[in-house]
Amino acid sequence: MRSLLRLGVFLREHRAPMTSGIVLFFIGRLFEFSVPLFIKMGIDSIEAGNPNLLVPFLAILATVGLRFCFLTYARFQIRRVGLRVAFSLRRLLYDQLQQQGSRFFSHYTIGDMMTRAVADIALIQRAIANGTIMACWIIVATVYGFGFMLALSPTLTVWILPPLPFVLAYAWYASKRMGIASRTVQNRLSDLSAHVEENLSGIRTIQAMVQEESEVRRFDGTNEAYATAFYRQAKINSMMSAVMPTLAAVSSVVILGLGGLLVLEGEMTIGTFAAFFMYVNWVVQPFRMAGFVVNLYQRAAVGTARLFEVFDMGPEISERPSGATPRPIKGHIELRHLSFTYPGSDTPVLDDVSLDIAQGESIAIMGRVGSGKTTLLKQLTRLLDPPEGSVFIDGHDVRDYPLAQLRTQVAMVPQDPFLFGDPLRDNITYDDPTRTIEKVWDAAESAYLRDTIKEFPEQMETIVGERGVTLSGGQKQRATLARGLIRNAPALLLDDCFSAVDTETEEHILSELRRLRGDMTTILVSHRISTARHADRIVVLDEGRVIEVGSHDELLAQGGYYAELERIQREGADEKDFASVGALT
Ligand code: ADP
Repeated sequence: MRSLLRLGVFLREHRAPMTSGIVLFFIGRLFEFSVPLFIKMGIDSIEAGNPNLLVPFLAILATVGLRFCFLTYARFQIRRVGLRVAFSLRRLLYDQLQQQGSRFFSHYTIGDMMTRAVADIALIQRAIANGTIMACWIIVATVYGFGFMLALSPTLTVWILPPLPFVLAYAWYASKRMGIASRTVQNRLSDLSAHVEENLSGIRTIQAMVQEESEVRRFDGTNEAYATAFYRQAKINSMMSAVMPTLAAVSSVVILGLGGLLVLEGEMTIGTFAAFFMYVNWVVQPFRMAGFVVNLYQRAAVGTARLFEVFDMGPEISERPSGATPRPIKGHIELRHLSFTYPGSDTPVLDDVSLDIAQGESIAIMGRVGSGKTTLLKQLTRLLDPPEGSVFIDGHDVRDYPLAQLRTQVAMVPQDPFLFGDPLRDNITYDDPTRTIEKVWDAAESAYLRDTIKEFPEQMETIVGERGVTLSGGQKQRATLARGLIRNAPALLLDDCFSAVDTETEEHILSELRRLRGDMTTILVSHRISTARHADRIVVLDEGRVIEVGSHDELLAQGGYYAELERIQREGADEKDFASVGALT
């Protein structure tokens, strides 16, 4: 429950509407609680043989009208605060997620984050809106109710109290159990979302491998786990909903009996007894509702804890610009004894890599799968954080640059092409929608995509589906390449991003790269000699170490991995032979 206190900062922003909502609620309920007094007035006047019903009638009409106005507005105010807090929390979560990196996403699934963004925040919103209204009602019913009851009959009021300790003890016990059950439910819900998300992302693989039935069976397990957790929570909840009103009913029966006796003995008027009984019905409401409110807050506490778990992490890559870094970047990249080990692993993926890349140089990086090529590129844009003092751009540690500047001026085109479910034009000029359409077409032309786009019915406005499903693998690669080229960045990193294009297209792209990139630095990861051979220098990585560096001719003369790969590719070896080079080196 303590985690709920952390919502304080968010609530503080909405102090005014919250306070006014609560005050209006209390005033509205005061009108409501005065109604029994007017009823008493009417009944007593009848009992006294002098009926006067007009005044009570008009008074009740007025108070009920005022109650309606005050309570409606109060509820609206409080519910709006719930909505605003949920809005802020969702935005903060989204903001946090934008700053997380591979470590975070290897730990948390997307489905889990979606559950936190939707279901957990909905629990908090409900607790703030409905919870506040109910908590206020509990206070009102207790304070006003007991106040009016004491004024009417202190003797009878005392008889309400005996069940109270039992109620409190039970509420405390149930809230403990509810907390544990709620956390399990939310975690299982996260598992369920993660499972659905993963399954739907891989649906084509599942269908291609005819695994639909086994996937459904596997899903049954996750679904069952959620249902079981929810069932356990529902059991505690049902028990609470049954026990509380039972205790409340006991109080009503006791008052009915004792009050009736007082009326018979002439110690109380019928009007007073009727009014008193109305208050009893209000006072026992908290007993009925306590369980529900505890449930509401307990579940919101679980949701809050799960959200703050993410908020507390902070960004994976922290900013601490030195202020001394140049802008713009020229493109001189230097690696000084760069070693890198993924968190949780013992083996370094990059091992003492030193390399000086001059401004305007083109570098090809080769090496078998898993040799560390992608990891190396990611260090340059701090998608993975390199150790201090190992990666320099224009003589400054990359860690000293403002992150946004670094990633704008050192543009990376990743290995897996990803397109948003938007028009192609927006995908290509994603980072700056204000670019002219001519520039977008030029980039498409350089990526050898112009003719393909011309064939689409809506050309640049064609929506490419949530993950670009309407494009082939090669077309997607070229669209993401166009997105990289249009940025005209001083340093461009291409991570094996034309592996799925044919040789004619590759030739075109390479000549465009030479034309466009003239005096700008370009680093290109590739498996193909035909791609790498035009680079000023080729770097061969193996198990995270640089094993060869030099121009195409120099490396051929060395007769190492590169020369062997060249021979195999020249002789038109198939994929199997190609793969065998890995074993050779
Ligand atoms: P390449 O691009 O040369 O194929 P990578 O740089 O992608 O190689 O990967 C190098 C090694 O690092 C591989 O052994 C891979 O399993 C490991 N690796 C890649 N990403 C991660 C990660 N997020 N956590 C742990 N190990 C990783």
